[in-house]
Amino acid sequence: MQTHILGYPRIGSKRELKKACEQYWSGKIVLEELLTAGRNICSQNWTIQKEAGIDLIPCNDFSYYDQVLDMSLIVGAIPTRYHEVALKNNSSELDLYFAMARGYQKEGLDITAMEMTKWFDTNYHYIVPEFYKNQQFKLNSNKIFNEFSGAKQAGINAKPVIIGLVSYLLLGKEKEDGFDKLDLAENLLPVYIEILARLQEQGAEWIQFDEPFLALDLSGKAKEKYQWVYEKIRKQFPKLKFIVATYFDGLKDNVSLAVSLPVNVLHIDLVRNPEQLDDVLQSVPENLSLSLGVVDGRNIWKNNYEKSLSFITKAVEKLGSESIFIAPSSSLLHSPCDLDFETNLNAEIKNWLAFAKQKVKEVVTLKELASGTADEKILADFEDNKKAIADRKTSSLIHNDAVKQIANTVTEEDAQRKSPFKIRKEEQQKVLQLPLFPTTTIGSFPQTAEVRSWRAKFKKGDLTAEQYDTLLKEETQRTIRWQEEIGIDVLVHGEFERNDMVEYFGEQLKGFTFTKNGWVQSYGSRCVKPPVIFGDVSRPDPMTVYWSQYAQSQTEKWVKGMLTGPVTILQWSFVRDDQPRSETCKQIALAIRDEVVDLEKAGIRIIQIDEPAIREGLPLRKSEWQNYLKWAVEAFRISSSGVEDATQIHTHMCYSEFNDIIKNIADMDADVITIECSRSQMELLNAFADFKYPNEIGPGVYDIHSPRVPSKEEMIELLIKAQNVIPAEQLWVNPDCGLKTRHWDETEKALIAMVEAAKESALAL
Ligand code: GLN
Ligand code: ZN
Repeated sequence: MQTHILGYPRIGSKRELKKACEQYWSGKIVLEELLTAGRNICSQNWTIQKEAGIDLIPCNDFSYYDQVLDMSLIVGAIPTRYHEVALKNNSSELDLYFAMARGYQKEGLDITAMEMTKWFDTNYHYIVPEFYKNQQFKLNSNKIFNEFSGAKQAGINAKPVIIGLVSYLLLGKEKEDGFDKLDLAENLLPVYIEILARLQEQGAEWIQFDEPFLALDLSGKAKEKYQWVYEKIRKQFPKLKFIVATYFDGLKDNVSLAVSLPVNVLHIDLVRNPEQLDDVLQSVPENLSLSLGVVDGRNIWKNNYEKSLSFITKAVEKLGSESIFIAPSSSLLHSPCDLDFETNLNAEIKNWLAFAKQKVKEVVTLKELASGTADEKILADFEDNKKAIADRKTSSLIHNDAVKQIANTVTEEDAQRKSPFKIRKEEQQKVLQLPLFPTTTIGSFPQTAEVRSWRAKFKKGDLTAEQYDTLLKEETQRTIRWQEEIGIDVLVHGEFERNDMVEYFGEQLKGFTFTKNGWVQSYGSRCVKPPVIFGDVSRPDPMTVYWSQYAQSQTEKWVKGMLTGPVTILQWSFVRDDQPRSETCKQIALAIRDEVVDLEKAGIRIIQIDEPAIREGLPLRKSEWQNYLKWAVEAFRISSSGVEDATQIHTHMCYSEFNDIIKNIADMDADVITIECSRSQMELLNAFADFKYPNEIGPGVYDIHSPRVPSKEEMIELLIKAQNVIPAEQLWVNPDCGLKTRHWDETEKALIAMVEAAKESALAL
């Protein structure tokens, strides 16, 4: 039996990579210093794994920005627009690489960055390879070889991690018509062969190919390519040992394909899809070993050793222990680095957790336990593990019977507004008296350095609660006055009191906790620190009523209450794994519902529940979409249905395509939905138009992701486009998203123009 790790976090346990990259980009350090920072992180990571006793330690899992972009650089998939950067004097390979990642705007060049998108269903974002017809590839970087020799110097014969050829192609995008990216396999294969030949020459014995697409729905053509590629590779390298790694879902209908590939080891994710073990064991041929992904690579909970051992034992019985590898379910890229840094966590909760460094140890411990070589210390660890797991099952920190009771007794009526939209619309109009093309914003106004400095000072104790409160009130009041002055119809308070749209709520809800250093890479040097949902969720006190009520007291106009929806809170947190996600989501929904009802009681008649993450929660396999959408939509409805007909519920979504889920969005039954739309020139509205979406819609007319100020005429133009597909009386006028990242001067100009555009459009009718 052997252990291996699919990949280790590369940001550094103190986010050293973030700091080094950002300093390099701003010219504060030179290339050699950045490279040193990178090498140090690699060697720290290798040391952790070596000392823990891991058998196969990965290399090339490190990256200065993104592992898919690394692959594009290595195989020379470099779009022509970057060739000028490569030709610049003194420009290094990394400068070209960063230009591809971030764009290049200096020395007379102005080149856009490559597109970025989400890595499967994680919050990690990768740089999308660009493919062209008849594209040629060539080995273009020594990164992978350098990393391999770096490990060798550290005394490790590392296992290079390479994105498998088929997955690499499937991750990319065709940038011109008339070809299929999978047809590039033939041109790309020689470069893969060259890479493998060089690694073999350097002394590599093991190679890991990441092929996550094997766990997704595959076309017939993709299946053929898998066979073709691995047969070719095997033929060239009869002696290299290959691991094909799948993760994030089960092999399901691809089991027979996966086990037939001529490789040495197949890795499967038993956290996401434990059911696949039986299927795989039934069909695995004699010469194929199995890597069991039993330690969760994507979440922060301590492994349940007893449960993992039951999988391992089953596999050993069938295949024999020499054919078994033990591993985390996926790369540990998605876990925070080291729990030891968490000195402020509640000790009981901390005892339920494991971050990357702890997970490495878990993998080794499982091997010792499974192979009967455990010493006394490890046997004691096993006892502690059982205790921690048992404690989590019954802890009063987690379990709140009242919450469970309420969640169990939710009825269909609770997820249903009192009357259908048509009637609600009339009731709302009686109260709200809004004009045609009502104007509003999405919630946040600029979070200036000043506003952020107040929060920092307050947290440090340099401002008293009263002083902080006064400053926020002044900022809120100014924002209300200004919105009144320029004639916005539905005002917002500005969200100045919020650090983050999930953290702000998590901090006030029971069942949540926060880490000090639990950073996870989101993209490039950007990291996020997701809240931890460890227990039953409840809302001890109102969370937003104070600020909404204050803002409403400052004006005769309507102020919109502003909440984050249950699906988004769930999606952007580490979620407990001891009950279904749907159950946790329902609990959050009930807490938000209480808040919605309290806002209504406090006189707030328009309440927005943001759900920007509803689409990203979609399962990877299409066959599971409906189940997810059912509980996700229901959670939104539970959160929004406690109010009277006359109270208007808004929701907001961004970065979404809506075509394939429009019916479900309509099922959410928000009175008004605001969506990001301006960059697509209202094209996103077509999904709503084709569906004859019955409720009201605010398609964003102003792209807030750029400092550019749109003109009134442009926005009128967009509104005309919108009216071509959606009846005018259903339309609202608003920006694409919140304004927290913008500056006041551009925000002011843009919103003044937006209000004028709405008024002129109304007059033109
Ligand atoms: N209400 C939030 C804001 O305006 C919405 C943010 C989002 O959609 N991501 O900031
Ligand atoms: Zn948004």
